[in-house]
Amino acid sequence: MSYSGGKDSHLLYWFIKEYAKIEGIKIIGINTYMEHPEIRDRIHNNSDKVLLPAKKPFEIKDKYGIPCFSKEQDFYIYYYQKAIREGKEPAKTYKDKLNGTYKTGFNISKTARDYVLSGKAHKITHLCCYYLKKKPAHDFEKASGLKPILGVRNEESTLRRRQYTSCFSANGKFTPLWDLTEELEDAIYEKYKIETPKIYEHIKRTGCMGCPYGSWKGDTQKELDLIKGTQKEFVCKYFKESYDILNIKY
Ligand code: SF4
Repeated sequence: MSYSGGKDSHLLYWFIKEYAKIEGIKIIGINTYMEHPEIRDRIHNNSDKVLLPAKKPFEIKDKYGIPCFSKEQDFYIYYYQKAIREGKEPAKTYKDKLNGTYKTGFNISKTARDYVLSGKAHKITHLCCYYLKKKPAHDFEKASGLKPILGVRNEESTLRRRQYTSCFSANGKFTPLWDLTEELEDAIYEKYKIETPKIYEHIKRTGCMGCPYGSWKGDTQKELDLIKGTQKEFVCKYFKESYDILNIKY
């Protein structure tokens, strides 16, 4: 079971370990270096094994860039900018997405488009999640032969709504919380008095503190206000260029 120390995966942890007392399921945490200290401690206390990122954040920043607008937009921006950096013509899909002429599905937002097409944009990528979380998990799955149990809920994002439409995926993932609503989750927490870290008194979701992907809901700013010292310096240095364009104060 993949354990992030957040509310969703902790619900699964509680169900497996304390409610149903199921034996033999390994709890696998991932330390991205970006969690709030309270969540990082929880990962270390509750996991059988803690995986580390496949690349360090600043290696990712140097080589690929940093997250900025949204995971989906950053995917197209990354391949568009990469082609330009390599002196190649970007593929039609990426150009259409950037120019707002893509026929089906979403296009890049006006702010992102103007910024990227100005040629002055910093390197933007969706690959931060891949190297900090996904690759270590995939490598572990491969090495161990185990299939993952994930505490993901599709209410969280449009991408997840498309990705998870049942408890089971063809590639062997088990996602038993896929259609759990926030309301029901809160009711379960309340009824069974499941331990909740103090940080949830300030924010609704935890994960990587200060990740720009939470900026549209105002979460990034709130998270930045909750961290201090070297962690805050690290996060602000890592996301600096994205904060500048997103008007996040740091
Ligand atoms: S949530 Fe944000 S900071 Fe965390 S791994 Fe993904 S992109 Fe990086």
